[in-house]
Amino acid sequence: MSCPFCAKNEDDFFMKTAHFAAIYNLSPIVPGHSLVIPIAHVESLFALSEPDFQEMMLFSRKVMRFLCDYFHTDAFDWAIQEKPPAGQSVAHLHVHLIPRYEHDLPEPGAWYHRMVEQEKQQIDTFARQRLSIPRLQEITYKLKEAATSYFSHHPNI
Ligand SMILES: [Zn+2]
Repeated sequence: MSCPFCAKNEDDFFMKTAHFAAIYNLSPIVPGHSLVIPIAHVESLFALSEPDFQEMMLFSRKVMRFLCDYFHTDAFDWAIQEKPPAGQSVAHLHVHLIPRYEHDLPEPGAWYHRMVEQEKQQIDTFARQRLSIPRLQEITYKLKEAATSYFSHHPNI
């Protein structure tokens, strides 16, 4: 099966480093739900070298900081699912970055079940809750512009 994250390119990234990119989720569970992925195909967290792991974590924190600013919140969830028993359905390492708000979901913990459900939709062409491709491109473009502006004003984050 072809990998949906390997199919992503520069136009799909709203932020990037040498080895990692931030993409907006095709089926966001709440506004702002994004993913950090290695640009090259990596399946497991354990396959990353220490410098790459460090780069991924520092970059994810930076992306999270920007998303919190953009979506006006300071609450968020982070998650990595490793292998299908843990809910991973796309076999390409990805960190979920999920800005949270008061009463955004019925319970604060409801995000996990929804995230597992939307994971399946990444690979299900007929899923109903996906964004249209033009809408996804529009959001990505707006986030890219906003991120450029945000980091020009906050160069040390
Ligand atoms: Zn891949």
